[in-house]
Amino acid sequence: MLRTHYSDEVDSTDYGGNITVAGWIEDIRNLGGIAFVVLRDGHGKMQLTAIKKEHPELFKELTSLNRESVIAASGTCQENEKVMNGWELLVEEMTLLSHAEAPLPMGVVDKVNVDFDTRLDNRIIDLRRDNVKAIFIIRHSFVQFASEYLRNHGFTEVHTPKISATSSEGGTEVFKIDYFGRDAYLVQSPQLYKQMLMASGLERVYEIAWYFRAEEHDTSRHLNESTAVDIEMAFIENEEDVMRVAEEMTAYAAQKIIDENSKELDMIKANVDLPSPPYPRISYDEVVEVLQREGDFTWGKDLGTDEENLLATQLEYDIYFITDFPLSIKPFYAMPNGRYARAFDLEYRGMEITSGAQRIHDYTMLVERMRAHGMNIENFEEYLKPFRYGMPPHGGFGYGIERFLMRFLDLDNIRECILFPRDRKRITP
Ligand code: ATP
Ligand code: MG
Repeated sequence: MLRTHYSDEVDSTDYGGNITVAGWIEDIRNLGGIAFVVLRDGHGKMQLTAIKKEHPELFKELTSLNRESVIAASGTCQENEKVMNGWELLVEEMTLLSHAEAPLPMGVVDKVNVDFDTRLDNRIIDLRRDNVKAIFIIRHSFVQFASEYLRNHGFTEVHTPKISATSSEGGTEVFKIDYFGRDAYLVQSPQLYKQMLMASGLERVYEIAWYFRAEEHDTSRHLNESTAVDIEMAFIENEEDVMRVAEEMTAYAAQKIIDENSKELDMIKANVDLPSPPYPRISYDEVVEVLQREGDFTWGKDLGTDEENLLATQLEYDIYFITDFPLSIKPFYAMPNGRYARAFDLEYRGMEITSGAQRIHDYTMLVERMRAHGMNIENFEEYLKPFRYGMPPHGGFGYGIERFLMRFLDLDNIRECILFPRDRKRITP
């Protein structure tokens, strides 16, 4: 191996011994006879100290390197209370592993504000910054802990196709592709497949995957390629069973992140407090009352960003469910309950992060609802088939990973939560 220690692995037992470390040169301070180098690796930072009198050639080479060059350095690990970590490496040997050009397209440690597009254009360098890298370490944890929760509760992880002959929800906003001369679509969600699986006996499934939406709008909360945690569960009584999974999974993952990612959370300086479940349930009708008290709003309309923002100022809840939506604004597969749907959204600090519902499991009712939505039943034969041969009552949700992170970490743009965002204007890097 190139190195003996990561920056955070060195402890007092190493003091006085020889160690080898490696990483990126973040900063070099050359005081003439002595130079201090801040070296950064994947675990943190450390100080290298070079003394000219002792190693004149090495001193010259090291101090002439450009910032962000990659080196390995060996020498004595010396205790020193005055430097970070309580130790410094007195460099005796150095290998240049990769030279960095100057100037850098953007600074790594400079306090100067870099605009977001420059950051995204240079995402890899942007990721060298602690507070940016921290988002993706927390993202990794969220995926791990959400999975952990679901696996502990009887959910089987599945992987359904992302290329399909029918568009998931029968609506527009899909990317059409040429599939060997036939029309195909990139799926907007695993909706149809996860519902079909409910007839398979798998009972509870979840999927964490990419989805594609050709939404034209360019907002701080929409991506054209995004990831979600989707679940579907059979033999539910109603949508309340699904809501419990949504809130318990959220609380479990949030608490685990708070317990295990305190270093990263500090770097982002996010206020991650979340109340414990059960989260409040506010019906659509109650929400309408609030909206009508504060301005004009017509019953039956879907809630947009303006309404969600207004509700965030009027309701004192950080996180809550909106339940009992009008049937007309929910997808065809939502279970009707009079003029309402057994459907819910989970709102987190004024933004929808999850939509879910009890679904229709009765074939005849489903076909009727699809016709009411103007859908061509012939295009959905494969979806409908399992409903003809024994489909249990079921429900599920779709939970936007970037949406959750954006709210949990107090970030103002969803693009912060995805490595290489895809939006109207951006398909590179
Ligand atoms: P919105 O109304 O906020 O645009 P939606 O109701 O169209 O969202 P759903 O179809 O309910 O979205 O998708 C389920 C979840 O997937 C949403 O609650 C959200 O967390 C996430 N999501 C949906 N569209 C996007 C998108 N374009 N970018 C990022 N996440 C999305
Ligand atoms: Mg929704």
